[in-house]
Amino acid sequence: MYSEFTKKVPTLAEIQSMSILQTLQDRSGSTCELCGSTENLNVFTVPLKTEDTVDNCALICSTCQSQIVNPDTADANHWRCLNDSMWNENSPVKVLAYRMLHQLRGEGWTQDLLDMMYMEEDELKWARQTLLSDDEVAVVHKDSNGVTLSGGDSVVLIKDLDVKGAGFTAKRGTAVRNISLVEDNAEHIEGRVNGQQIVILTQYVKKT
Ligand SMILES: [Zn+2]
Repeated sequence: MYSEFTKKVPTLAEIQSMSILQTLQDRSGSTCELCGSTENLNVFTVPLKTEDTVDNCALICSTCQSQIVNPDTADANHWRCLNDSMWNENSPVKVLAYRMLHQLRGEGWTQDLLDMMYMEEDELKWARQTLLSDDEVAVVHKDSNGVTLSGGDSVVLIKDLDVKGAGFTAKRGTAVRNISLVEDNAEHIEGRVNGQQIVILTQYVKKT
């Protein structure tokens, strides 16, 4: 017999995080799932997932984690470990491997590994999303000459453009003042033509 009152009951969150760690330790043999290190291991939730579940997390060491979070500091030699870990059967590990191989695509050997890598469709979609989120940080709008555009700039159209839905053609040479940038699309700007706010492709404008 034991008294119910002496038992400390863990919260649901505690049970869940203990079991994720335990499961990942079992899955990996308590090693970094990317480089095999046995030190400073943490549960890492793979972007862009927000829920801490076994299917979203990998057990990785602090060295791998810091270079994943700050890819500018990535040491290509460290990531030779992907030669082995890219064959891991768990999606979060594969996605991280794919992402780092992409980050290091300046290195010749990383492209070879990417070509060999086998990803299920949903894994590839997940991996691409993580890459997309990196690119979005650096959306740069450029005109037809490669000149960087900013909100408030003035441009001219270098081509007659049919404005869909508005029933008119914006003529070549038309000046568009005070443009605004479409944040998530480097090829789109907005501006007022014929009194109407329209979306214009950057490839058809020149900054003035
Ligand atoms: Zn590691």
